[in-house]
Amino acid sequence: MAAKKPFLKVQCTVCKTVNYFTKKSKLMADTKLEISKFCSTCHKHTVHKEGRK
Ligand SMILES: [Zn+2]
Repeated sequence: MAAKKPFLKVQCTVCKTVNYFTKKSKLMADTKLEISKFCSTCHKHTVHKEGRK
């Protein structure tokens, strides 16, 4: 069995587009990911949240 790599989707909360991927790091493990990043669909900075599943 291959080890599961906990990749996270980083999803724009406005248009729901997944713009970034990140690995779940130890630093972020206890932090709810909510970051402002540039969304190429919205053409502006929007709040991005982790989208698991
Ligand atoms: Zn967007």
